[in-house]
Amino acid sequence: MSNPAINKKCDLCEKKAIGMQILGCVQQTVCEEHAEKILIAMKPGESKNCGACYYVRYE
Ligand SMILES: [Zn+2]
Repeated sequence: MSNPAINKKCDLCEKKAIGMQILGCVQQTVCEEHAEKILIAMKPGESKNCGACYYVRYE
């Protein structure tokens, strides 16, 4: 079976998603281009909680 994190697409464009970010109450699945810098800097599989924001980097 495939990993659900794979094949996910960016919510803002059609590119492959590299992670998920939750900013307040807004959740977005984002590609490299649309991800926050903090998310891009994270290692694959890492997740980070910064107050109101939560980031998950896909593998
Ligand atoms: Zn995108």
